[in-house]
Amino acid sequence: MSRLAVDIGGTHLRYELIGEREEACGTVSSRETEPTRFIESMLKRYPEIDAVAVSFAGQVNEGTIVAAPNIEVAVSEIQNHFESRYGIRLKIENDLNCAALAESVYWGDGELVALYSGTGLGSGIVEKGEICHGWRSLAGEIGHVPYREAPFSCGCGKNNCLELYASGSGIEKWMRQAGCAGDPDLKRLYESSDPECRKIAEYYIEALLHASATMVTLLNPKTLVLGGGVIQHNPFLLPIVRERIGAYALGASLEGLRIEATRIENASLEGAKLLLDTM
Ligand SMILES: [Zn+2]
Repeated sequence: MSRLAVDIGGTHLRYELIGEREEACGTVSSRETEPTRFIESMLKRYPEIDAVAVSFAGQVNEGTIVAAPNIEVAVSEIQNHFESRYGIRLKIENDLNCAALAESVYWGDGELVALYSGTGLGSGIVEKGEICHGWRSLAGEIGHVPYREAPFSCGCGKNNCLELYASGSGIEKWMRQAGCAGDPDLKRLYESSDPECRKIAEYYIEALLHASATMVTLLNPKTLVLGGGVIQHNPFLLPIVRERIGAYALGASLEGLRIEATRIENASLEGAKLLLDTM
């Protein structure tokens, strides 16, 4: 039999087929591929698939897609759809929860928080080796914790979210606001001679420190892993967080805390593969 792991993000859909006879992997554009159709096409192509694990960039609860701001979905009750129609097992989990699970295995630590800053800002929490979901699987939405008022709105409708400062989409919004041209490259902004552009990088760092310290103070992890596109493209951020978090977090929560940057190429897909092992 074969098993399929799929990571559905706003930009890319990545998959890996783990089979006894055949293995396959690939990346396709999310805009051209509706998730249900994609999985159905894989089931047709590889009829020996009996289990599918999905990492999904949206809110997911008990096998159902609750909200997907950047992905068009034809079937929200995805687990029921595939289990009843195709007789296979399917598990779906939020992508940051999947990433946190993969980080937890990678760092060998069951008390871990993964704080990811990419297009958005979010986190996954692992406690005693298990994903912490909350009542309706909404735990970890650090990006929408109130922070400071901004002159524009967040995707959630508010205008004071951490995500408006400590994310790639936030950087772009601030650049438009300040009239800073060029790529939304944080290092370039950080080193800019234009104080308006440099201020955007300073906003970002300050908000990232707030988000990191909030997670650490609230959840007391042993390991905090920073990841996501903005972190991965800007290695200068890790030493800044390590040096300056003391000014933001509760002192006792910092004792023995390890802060790392992710070393996993695609943690959410790796997390989906780990889910397959639990099915
Ligand atoms: Zn928000």
